Amino acid sequence: MDEIKIFAPATIANISCGFDVLGCCLDTLGDEMIVRKSSVKGVRITKIIGEDLPLDTEKNVAGVAALALLKNIKEEYGFEIEIYKNIKPGSGVGSSAASAAGVVFAINELLNKPFTKLELVEFAREGERLACGSPIADNVAPAIFGGFTLVKSTNPLQIVELPSFKGLYATIIHPQIEIKTEDSRSILPRKIDLSLAVKQSANLGSLIHALHTNDYFLFSESLTDYIVEPHRSKLIPDFDKVKSNALKAGALGCGISGSGPSIFTFSKNIQTAYNVQGAINKVYEKNGIAHHTYVTKINIEGVKVL
Ligand code: ADP
Repeated sequence: MDEIKIFAPATIANISCGFDVLGCCLDTLGDEMIVRKSSVKGVRITKIIGEDLPLDTEKNVAGVAALALLKNIKEEYGFEIEIYKNIKPGSGVGSSAASAAGVVFAINELLNKPFTKLELVEFAREGERLACGSPIADNVAPAIFGGFTLVKSTNPLQIVELPSFKGLYATIIHPQIEIKTEDSRSILPRKIDLSLAVKQSANLGSLIHALHTNDYFLFSESLTDYIVEPHRSKLIPDFDKVKSNALKAGALGCGISGSGPSIFTFSKNIQTAYNVQGAINKVYEKNGIAHHTYVTKINIEGVKVL
């Protein structure tokens, strides 16, 4: 095989009580990429459709992630990359992670899979280092493993694969505003109250138990963030109203995706996910805030061959 076309999924990171550790993979929202072997050594990005992003290998997360992988093989040939972008950069649903995860998955397939998924996450997070200054793994891990993942440790990298509910859907609302990553980081407190840390860790533990025991009620009860959301939600217009409308429409939970501005909600089935979409659309339609919404099931496969 000399060429492969893949789907590179969007992901939700910072799932409520799982700040910086818990993420999940989405299904219908994502980019497409074509990666092909070339007789010319090195990595070239030959086409980007949909967004204005750098073609320069060293400035594009896909190029950087591919180079990180290539350092670990005896290079006999090079690779060309085409990126068909659907995930808007800076939207909070892992735009850079999709490109980084997608390219390393594709090259691994073209090489007959010499690398494990964990190794692919290692390469992909070098792309994240370019996008945000540190080699975070909480978007690239679910993009590569699929389903829900927990970043147990970043050094050494340890990823825990978690089960997902059958039929779980996410509704995403992306208000068309820009939040600078530095602003969403700088708004966070440096120190937190011990009682909040206790509540947060209890929720993370019970959320993971809920995934293992298929307990929707406990999952819903655990999707509360006492530490980050109270601060970051101030940067997102009408966050509280969107959340209360989503919960009233039957969502199991609602929170900020990544560092925003996208908001995620989870629902037990597709019909509820669409009801939630209608309910949250109303908030921004009333206030005239431009936005996009998406309904997608949870993708348990991760990046996939098309
Ligand atoms: P999101 O908030 O949606 O997760 P990120 O903040 O992860 O988006 O990534 C956006 C940043 O990464 C932007 O500065 C963008 O220019 C840069 N970038 C470089 N290459 C890519 C790529 N292939 N796809 C998306 N963003 C990229």
